Amino acid sequence: MAEGARQDNLLRGLPVSMGYAVGRVRFVHRKSWSATERTITEDRVPYELALFEKAHARSLRELEMLGSQISRNVGSRDARIFKTHVQILQDPKITEEVPNLVRTKLITAERAVYEVTHELSLFFERHVGGDKARDIDDIADRLMGHLNEEAGALDAPVLDEPCIVVAHTLTPSLLAGADTGKILGIATDTGGATSHVAILARSLQIPAVAALNRISLDAKDGDLMILDGFEGVAIVDPTEEEQALYAERGRRHRERQRDLAKQSGAERPVTLDGKYIPMLANVELPEETSRALEQGAEGVGLLRSEFLFFRAGAPTEEEQFQAYREALESAYPRPVTIRTVDTGGDKLLKNLSLSDEPNPVMGWRSIRVCLDNPAMFKEQLRALLRAGVYGRLKIMFPMVASLDELRGAKKMLDEVRLSLEDEGVRVADSVEVGAMVEVPSAVLQMEDLAREVDFVSIGTNDLIQFTLAVDRSNEKVKELFQPHHPAVLRMIRMTCNAAHEAGIVVSVCGEMASDVLSIVLLVGLGVDELSMSPSRIAENKSFLRTISYAEARETVTECLALRSAREIDELLYRRFAKRIEALGGTSYQAKLRKFRDAAALRGESAPEPEA
Ligand code: PEP
Ligand code: MG
Repeated sequence: MAEGARQDNLLRGLPVSMGYAVGRVRFVHRKSWSATERTITEDRVPYELALFEKAHARSLRELEMLGSQISRNVGSRDARIFKTHVQILQDPKITEEVPNLVRTKLITAERAVYEVTHELSLFFERHVGGDKARDIDDIADRLMGHLNEEAGALDAPVLDEPCIVVAHTLTPSLLAGADTGKILGIATDTGGATSHVAILARSLQIPAVAALNRISLDAKDGDLMILDGFEGVAIVDPTEEEQALYAERGRRHRERQRDLAKQSGAERPVTLDGKYIPMLANVELPEETSRALEQGAEGVGLLRSEFLFFRAGAPTEEEQFQAYREALESAYPRPVTIRTVDTGGDKLLKNLSLSDEPNPVMGWRSIRVCLDNPAMFKEQLRALLRAGVYGRLKIMFPMVASLDELRGAKKMLDEVRLSLEDEGVRVADSVEVGAMVEVPSAVLQMEDLAREVDFVSIGTNDLIQFTLAVDRSNEKVKELFQPHHPAVLRMIRMTCNAAHEAGIVVSVCGEMASDVLSIVLLVGLGVDELSMSPSRIAENKSFLRTISYAEARETVTECLALRSAREIDELLYRRFAKRIEALGGTSYQAKLRKFRDAAALRGESAPEPEA
């Protein structure tokens, strides 16, 4: 419990982005659908019709499920209401009239649903009675809700002044679309540490706490709030003492960050016995590159290009070219690894991921979407090869699960290169091409994959999720998302061994690369370079300089003989807690405290750190 904080107004969640924030709450909720008339062009009609079809099918499924649940648990009389709703939903007045209006009046599906249901509701109000009219309103709500979800769920909020954004749930597209300079902090009911909103918050250096469960109920627009992104605490309506306490903590933290940034530019990330482990930055938007370099990054190890698409809808080839060029020029002569569009899971693109899939994380996503959309994919590859002239470009394909996928993507890259050359357009001479290792099949087939790429980068966020079958965004299973699970460590070791056998470099760009204790393991397992949130680089460089490569390797040997993530965590804590404590960073302290708290929660005490 944060010292000096009252219990009644304090909520505990998951710290997902470090830092302190004090500010007024701005509540962001599902788009309030006013359905103001929005006209569309003719080529948008199929998209709107598909949206409607999906939203309609979802609503129907939900109502049928609700009906059978109520009928089982309460009785068939009470389930009748849902039967009526199903009938209304299937009435041609809705199923035919909505698409008809979209086609003939060239309006959005949302507006068409509004017009049709509004008319029906008025009719029933006048001629049948209010109850029936409420049924129509209810159905309209359900349909509109799903239409908004299918179309990207939320509109980016317009933020007039600095605030702490509070929401039940947030999407990366919403965050990328808002004026992030005005966001002091983020507090959500849901979410996990490796969800993309959390990753984006970290890269924008906005303190964030997720999995607060009921913050969206407890905090109102305009309330004063303190957010502690180290401890995972939100305090609504804090006392003056609490405000003073956190103002002081914030000041100390900023001071230390400034000192670290100054010293980090000069420091090389080497172990005590001279092993150099380059530390690069993960960025979401190309313009973050120069700031990342100021924070000590030796290049960009992962640029998540899909964030460009969240922000600008579908950027043109020219817009992409300019954005990639900016990143490459500002990093030069350092490398920039640009990952091709990686959609799916919690990253839905408005114009691509229309499918209503039962399991989108393992569905039509990422490289699969790109290979199925050659026009879009080739446009991105063209922009990349053109931009490659301006720096040291590395292209990386995400979620590769088979050799066929890798070959398919490389073939398109070759085709694009040839056609650009035919057109007489200047392209980069040599571009390294790599694959992300995020799926167990890629690890198991690393010998084959490694022969056909210049480098690989392990995406531990997905690799952990798929190895352990634990949804990375689901706070209900957050305790099971264990980066130090013996199976995960074996996956990483297999990747390093096979990749090194083929003579290529292994990088890690998942969140494990940001974590001090994981760094010991990654280095000991043979990982050659690390790419992480820029805000972590300074502290992690300092930490690397306190360990030796030999020690990291020995630690890994000992850890691989253990049988559970808990035992491995304890060994790491025992061996490194004192050194971490001596470095004194706020995030280090928070990490150690979290470890001790977790032990206390189990009724145990943390192991005694070695001297
Ligand atoms: C990963 O999966 O570890 C990764 C870096 O990619 P993303 O987090 O964008 O899925
Ligand atoms: Mg991934």
